[in-house]
Amino acid sequence: MLQVDKPSGVSGLIDTHCHLAHYHEAGTLSAILESAQQLGVSRMIAVGTSSADWSLYQGFAQQYRGQVFYSAGLHPCYVADDYPEELSRLEAFFQASDKPVALGEIGLDNYHLPEDPAAVPAMQAFQQEAFKFQLGLAKRYDCPIIIHSRHAFNECVAMIDQSGVDWNKVVFHCFAEGPEQVRILNERGGRASFTGILTYKKAEDVRQAFLAQPLELTMLETDAPYLAPVPHRGKENQPGWVSYIAEHAAQLLEMDVAAFKQKVSETSERFFEL
Ligand SMILES: [Zn+2]
Ligand SMILES: [Zn+2]
Repeated sequence: MLQVDKPSGVSGLIDTHCHLAHYHEAGTLSAILESAQQLGVSRMIAVGTSSADWSLYQGFAQQYRGQVFYSAGLHPCYVADDYPEELSRLEAFFQASDKPVALGEIGLDNYHLPEDPAAVPAMQAFQQEAFKFQLGLAKRYDCPIIIHSRHAFNECVAMIDQSGVDWNKVVFHCFAEGPEQVRILNERGGRASFTGILTYKKAEDVRQAFLAQPLELTMLETDAPYLAPVPHRGKENQPGWVSYIAEHAAQLLEMDVAAFKQKVSETSERFFEL
């Protein structure tokens, strides 16, 4: 197990959303975790997408206690016609002693849909049913909820409204919308978290969204292995690189980098009760 050293007065950055199964399969997980430590990223949340990774991440949370936390949820892109069976396996994780810190990622994805147009309505219905069920579970367990919304912002908001979950526990991860949408979340008590997209040249709308959100709500994530930030854009991403996102974000706010990192870490810690 890796040592979790906390330099005095600094708790270290938190990558609130990454997918560690990729590194596990590639045999690079311990190197990636070590590299994160060296970059001052002391904690991360391994975000579940289907029953194929929930147990794996629960195991990582045990093995790397205090450094890796995990969430469990059925990602909309992993919803298939066996989804009721998948969902039947989910609740046990929330009753275990090593519980997930959040339910997610869950939501709707209208971007990755079946190529056959005839199969689309059924898939959308499955996604909605799986999302609704999981919102119900999150309400019952009163836990943080990680939302994945792609080309489905208004539908996700409407379903969350209908579910009656506490919006204060809702984060839209990998926010790729603009300031108007961030306000829609914020006025309900919800929030957006930002990835390396924030550092991309063409992502002005996302930067405006970041600036529109009150700083005390803001959290950062890599969504690794995807979406590597500048100056590593195009490479395989890793949790440690949330530090680059933080540096860029602090610049946008014209804020001291250390103070900004401290602030977002505290926010993430509070939101996920780490
Ligand atoms: Zn996602
Ligand atoms: Zn993700």
